[in-house]
Amino acid sequence: MCGIFGYCGYRDDAAKIVVAGLKRLDYRGYDSWGVAEASDEKIYLEKKAGKISDVDSITSFPKSGRAIAHTRWATTGAVNDVNAHPHFATDKSFVLAQNGIVENYEDIKATLLKKGYKFLSTTDTEVIVRLIENELKEKKDLLKAIRSAFLQLEGRNTIILITKEGEIIAAR
Ligand code: GLU
Repeated sequence: MCGIFGYCGYRDDAAKIVVAGLKRLDYRGYDSWGVAEASDEKIYLEKKAGKISDVDSITSFPKSGRAIAHTRWATTGAVNDVNAHPHFATDKSFVLAQNGIVENYEDIKATLLKKGYKFLSTTDTEVIVRLIENELKEKKDLLKAIRSAFLQLEGRNTIILITKEGEIIAAR
């Protein structure tokens, strides 16, 4: 079972806080980890197959009070760095991590591929990202786009995303 941890607050070491958070969740089991932080309208991302317990801290990120982190238990797609979460939006405006399985991801992916969307990973998670992007074109509002995309997913799912502006949104 994966772990999701987010921090939004007044401290400026959000990446350190979420790495410590992931370590507290590692009893749940996982095969990969990833941390994303928002600072100065940019998203910093580090993700890898392997153990978060081997990571002391992430020193390459600037100071920030907004970060999310994820430990993956692969269900869809191999265990590798590319498939580790979070996954970037095409325009890099947000990243998203997921717990669960999108049972209808193949159907949704086929539709999105026909519309010209590109996928870097083989996860069901990236399908959620592209679906949000597609909804955003029509809805023009991130919350509405996330809600509309989430309602199209079959299965039990939890998502968290962080925008480059540092907004953190989660749905379950
Ligand atoms: N289904 C997703 C994947 O395989 C998320 C699995 C999880 O809950 O960690 O990447």
